[in-house]
Amino acid sequence: MHFPASFVTRRSLLKTLGAGALVLGMGRGPAVAQSAAMARGGTTPQPFTLPNLPYAYDALEPHIDARTMEIHHTKHHQAYITAANKALEARPDLRELSGEQLIARLDLFEEPLRTTLRNQLGGHLNHAFFWKLLAAPAEYRAGPLRGAIDKRFGSLEAFQKEFAQAAASRFGSGWAWLVWEDGELRVTSTANQDSPLMQGARPIIGIDVWEHAYYLAYQNRRADYVQAFWKVLNWDAAEANFAAV
Ligand code: MN
Repeated sequence: MHFPASFVTRRSLLKTLGAGALVLGMGRGPAVAQSAAMARGGTTPQPFTLPNLPYAYDALEPHIDARTMEIHHTKHHQAYITAANKALEARPDLRELSGEQLIARLDLFEEPLRTTLRNQLGGHLNHAFFWKLLAAPAEYRAGPLRGAIDKRFGSLEAFQKEFAQAAASRFGSGWAWLVWEDGELRVTSTANQDSPLMQGARPIIGIDVWEHAYYLAYQNRRADYVQAFWKVLNWDAAEANFAAV
């Protein structure tokens, strides 16, 4: 049986997102979308807002400088949020869906909204994830994630080497990740603001390797920035990400 493309898209969207009644306005209430969002690890409601950093802009010095953090947070991240909200103004029917739900099924959206959400909503979700993963330099206790890293990669150092290689080899702008995908830990990278959620993977650790993340202090030395990242990685946050999958 063949449906018009628009019908298939809408039908698939409703089925996949599990919030059909809500999108159709049948009045099952926001609890439906909320529960669906939680089931998918989606906790970022619309309209999107700039999250406060859980530390001061200079807290990560000297590894990541205060000026970079302030510009990155107030200018770059805010710009992604503003653009994502503006794009979604045209789709009040999707208002109850979380950012995570939207980014996970971009294939169900038509252009130009698809590309706009990929870039701008992806940028918002990636940065919100990133800020929570950083902290003032400190020692963190090893938990189940560290054990899983040893088991998967052989050692923490071996994992860090593979992660650094993924960060170094991502040409242009993008991210390097440790993700949970198909039942295992994997090191990967994405271009631009593409999110691991787009592929059904769950991010555990991620590093922004756009030049705006490091250029003021490190200029072209991305590898030095990646090494500094380990000094400000909040392992407790990474462990929490791992526990959630
Ligand atoms: Mn960035």
